[in-house]
Amino acid sequence: MKCLNCDSEKFETKNIRFNPEIKGEEVEVIVPSYVCTECQTPLMDSEQMNLLRRRAADKYRKKHHLLTSEAIINYRASLGMSQAAFANYLKVGEASIKRWETYYVQDVVQNDHIRLKCDEAYAELNALEVHWKSHSSDIYSGNRSFCLELFKQAVRYLIGFTKSPLFLNKALFYSDFKHFQLHGVSITGARYVHLEYGPCPDQFQNIYKLFLSNGVLISAGHHALKSTTKPDLSVFSDSEKEVLELIAQLSGKDGGKKLLKASHEEQAFKKTEPLQLISYHLSKDLKI
Ligand SMILES: [Zn+2]
Repeated sequence: MKCLNCDSEKFETKNIRFNPEIKGEEVEVIVPSYVCTECQTPLMDSEQMNLLRRRAADKYRKKHHLLTSEAIINYRASLGMSQAAFANYLKVGEASIKRWETYYVQDVVQNDHIRLKCDEAYAELNALEVHWKSHSSDIYSGNRSFCLELFKQAVRYLIGFTKSPLFLNKALFYSDFKHFQLHGVSITGARYVHLEYGPCPDQFQNIYKLFLSNGVLISAGHHALKSTTKPDLSVFSDSEKEVLELIAQLSGKDGGKKLLKASHEEQAFKKTEPLQLISYHLSKDLKI
């Protein structure tokens, strides 16, 4: 190896700051490089060059909230796939995988595609979004479209009184249906399904799984869940807060056992078939 500047053959390794351009944007990285001991001119071998390209690409990816090369490699590893199998799974060429795992920055659409195919929680959230978007507000959502934020805060509040999803589901049902009975609109826009254990929010298992995976809820032993932080009640109107407080008070005495029992006696339950969506019209006969 000879210095391109002074022909010297003496080199040492130093960490050098570089400012390469990625997609027209300058990024700054520090990587090890050979440096001529005579004139300090850097000279990289192919391994150092690859490290520079990969670090620069990852710097850009982090800044733009894209998966890093390491994240992509980890996805593939968690699926136990070779690069060829992974390419086949993502319906892209094997060369794309090799590049994404190193220096070639995937675009936003490719990034989303990789996450949808590799990140279970992300795929589930996406499916939920499609599900909610494909149902507009109607009598099954209590005349408003579903709002995940309101649902989340209602869950955070009511889980403090009910502990388990079984009782929480009833408390949510009563909150939404009671508010509809009084004001003609539900609180969260959730749709409720007639299940064996009473009226339950549509997709509740996926939603709670999502809440567990993104740290809204944590397991508190034997079928119990708890909220990781206090609920933000400022997202609710006064009438919504009044109803939530009423239901919390009714749940608080026995963790929701009475509500569970009562929910099986409701017209909303008796007049619907298993797995059927429950119309908010049936709130007019609520027993509480
Ligand atoms: Zn030199």
